[in-house]
Amino acid sequence: MNQHAHGCTCFIIPSKMLRKLADDATDAHERHCLLDQAELSAHLRGQRSVAPMMMGLVAATGEKRRTVYDAQNKSALPGKLVRGEDSKPSSDKTVNQAYDGAGATYDFFREVLKRNSIDGKGLRLDSTVHYQQKFNNAFWNGQQMVYGDGDGKLFLSFTGAIDVIAHELTHGVTQYAVPGGLVYADQSGALNESISDVFGSLVKQWTLKQTVEQADWLIGAGIMAPTVGKALRSMADPGNTKITWSGDDQPKTMAGYVEGGDVHTNSGIPNHAFYAAAIALKGNAWDKAGPIWYKALSLLTPNATFADMAKATSESAALLYGTNSAEQHAVQAAWKVVGVA
Ligand SMILES: [Zn+2]
Repeated sequence: MNQHAHGCTCFIIPSKMLRKLADDATDAHERHCLLDQAELSAHLRGQRSVAPMMMGLVAATGEKRRTVYDAQNKSALPGKLVRGEDSKPSSDKTVNQAYDGAGATYDFFREVLKRNSIDGKGLRLDSTVHYQQKFNNAFWNGQQMVYGDGDGKLFLSFTGAIDVIAHELTHGVTQYAVPGGLVYADQSGALNESISDVFGSLVKQWTLKQTVEQADWLIGAGIMAPTVGKALRSMADPGNTKITWSGDDQPKTMAGYVEGGDVHTNSGIPNHAFYAAAIALKGNAWDKAGPIWYKALSLLTPNATFADMAKATSESAALLYGTNSAEQHAVQAAWKVVGVA
């Protein structure tokens, strides 16, 4: 096995969203802060993170192990240890939300997909809260989760949304589950983003025990002020600004594919394919659609395209349910819906 994989410094809020909000800001200081944060996001993303693949091998295995650190509004990571596995809840709600969200994500992968943590070998789940001051983002840095507090005006909280936590931790899963990881640019980057949205939404649906009909299929609902919008993205209807926010430019099908577009933009296409498959397969999305998408990860390569993902999910549906099964046909039809043959 490769000792290193393509990881990413992956933010939940794309820097272009921060720039758009800066454009709209009436207050000069606020505009300045947003542009600073957009710049930092772009800068950190430019650093290629390399996952220490051997780490899980030396660690004890088989247990859920979480640690939460407090950056105390500074930039140094991981910060001060404030909660470990089985220690008492903190008086700080943010600490407990990060701890509980990591726990729900761990439980989902363990119980539903039989995966033991991010690396499949019980890797400890580390989170840092209160990163910098009024920081409008949350990210996975290739090794741990990092949460800002939000400015309280545009962004309210990043630990309050379980799908945001699960989205970020899934970037870690992808880093290990796809042989060599998925390169965070172009179609493989949009797939990387989409896989995080898929499992982010699944963890939320599983936690709330929602069927495919009951689920809202939104990503990031509740993290921003109502004046900004309701959610970052919709898997049911990518690009529908009425149910997300005014700058949502996600295409729903290949007809709207943005050449050289941001990974958070073109991810609307594979997101909608997953939605279409889950709706066709009915019931709970984690019963069939989730396992099919999960099994497909091991069939991908670092530069996988949407067409490769369509092929991989069709193959994994055949492996799980049989060649020419109704499940395999549903998956193939879902990719046709979004224009990926
Ligand atoms: Zn992401």
